[in-house]
Amino acid sequence: MRVLIVGAGIAGLSLAHFLKERGISYDLIDQTPEWRTIGYNMLVWPNGIRLLPKTVQRNVTNKGARITGNLILAEDGSVIQRFSFSSLIKRHGSAYQVLRDDLHQALRRGIKVRLNTVVRTLQQAGIRVHVQFSDKKKKSYDFVVGADGVDSSVRSHVTKQKPRFSGITGWLFWYPKKTRPHEILTQWGSGCFFGLYPHCKGARSAAYLAFATKRHLRTSNAHFVRRFAGMGGMIPEIIRSLPKKVYHHDHQFVRLRSWHKGSVVLIGDAAHCMPPPMGMGASLAIEDAFVLASELKKGGHALDRFEQKRRPRVEQVQKEARFIERLLAWPRLLYPVRKFMLKHLYQYLFMHVVDTILSERP
Ligand SMILES: Cc1cc2nc3c(=O)[nH]c(=O)nc-3n(C[C@H](O)[C@H](O)[C@H](O)COP(=O)(O)OP(=O)(O)OC[C@H]3O[C@@H](n4cnc5c(N)ncnc54)[C@H](O)[C@@H]3O)c2cc1C
Repeated sequence: MRVLIVGAGIAGLSLAHFLKERGISYDLIDQTPEWRTIGYNMLVWPNGIRLLPKTVQRNVTNKGARITGNLILAEDGSVIQRFSFSSLIKRHGSAYQVLRDDLHQALRRGIKVRLNTVVRTLQQAGIRVHVQFSDKKKKSYDFVVGADGVDSSVRSHVTKQKPRFSGITGWLFWYPKKTRPHEILTQWGSGCFFGLYPHCKGARSAAYLAFATKRHLRTSNAHFVRRFAGMGGMIPEIIRSLPKKVYHHDHQFVRLRSWHKGSVVLIGDAAHCMPPPMGMGASLAIEDAFVLASELKKGGHALDRFEQKRRPRVEQVQKEARFIERLLAWPRLLYPVRKFMLKHLYQYLFMHVVDTILSERP
C-alpha cells in the first residue's frame, strides 16, 4: 500500500510517523520552499500528547509550559473566576503550551518531506489515484490524504464546500515580559477578547486580541486599538507594547458533509477547522492521524470507518468551541448574563467537555 500525504503540518507529520510505525509506505509533500520559524505557542492536551512518538512527547514536556488553570477577567480587569485544571491533570495528565515551531521541528525528525511541491492534478482511476505533481512527476497511490490545512486544495476533490468566516478576527503577538508561567488569562470585553498564553518558564507570553466583526479584516491594527480602548487590567500596557510583527487571523470553521470521496480523505484543519477557544485543533489533528493510520492498516473500508469514528467526537468539540467563541459577540444588554455564565457555568462546561474528550480513547 502507498499513501500520499499532502501537507506537512501537525496532521501530516503525525500521520507519517503513525504510517511508518505500521510499515505503510508514504510520500509526504509540502508547498513551502523551506522550513521557516512558524507561529507562536499553542495548547496541546494529553489526548494529543499521549499518541505522539516518545521523542516528540519528551520535547513537549521538556520545552513546554505546564498549564494548571484559567483566570477569567471582566472588561475592567476585575476577576470574574479562577479555576484549576487539577482534577483534569489528576485523571488524564497535564496540558502544555508549546512553541508551534518546537512541536513541528520535533515531528519533522526522521520524516522525509518533499518541499516546494503541490498536486497539479488528481484523478481517481478504479481504486487507485493518479497524481501529477508541480515538478511534473507522476505517481499512483492507494490513498491520498489532504492534511493541507484550512485552505486545503485537496478538499476540492472531496466536496465543493468551503471554510466559513466565524465572525471573529484576531491578532497574535509576543508580549515580552515575565507573566504567570502556568495559567492562561482571558479577559472578556465589549465584543472583544484578550488572551495571554504562557511560554516556557513564563519569560514571555503569546498575547491574543480578538473582536467580533461582520467581515474579514485584512488590514490595519488601528481598528483594534480603537476597539480595546476602554478596557482595563493589562490592556493599556498590552496595546502600548504592541510589536510591529503581529499575526492576523480571521477565525474560520470547516463543516463538511463528507470527509472522503473515493480514495481521497481529509484530516486535521482541512476536514474540520474550528475556532481556537478550546485549544484542541492540534490534538484532534494528531488523533485523526492515529485513527486513520490504524484503519488503513486494517484494510477494507478504512475511510468509512475513519470518518464514522472521528466525526461525533470532532463535531462535539467544534460545537463547544463555536459556543465559547460566540459569547464574545453577545450584545452589551446581555453582559450580566454572560458574566453570570463565566462565573458560574463556564468552568463546569469547559471542564466537563475536556474531561469527556480526554476520557474517551480515539
Ligand atoms: C490563532 C490560532 C491559535 C490556535 N491555537 C491553538 C491551540 O492553542 N491549540 C491547538 O490545538 N490548536 C490551536 N490552533 C489550531 C491549530 O493551529 C490547527 O488546528 C492545527 O495546526 C491543524 O493542523 P493541520 O496539520 O491540519 O494544518 P496546518 O498546521 O495548517 O498544516 C497544513 C500544512 O499543509 C501545507 N499546505 C497547505 N496547502 C498545501 C498545498 N496545496 N500543497 C502542499 N502543502 C500544503 C502547509 O504549508 C502546512 O505545512 C490555533 C489556530 C490559530 C489560527
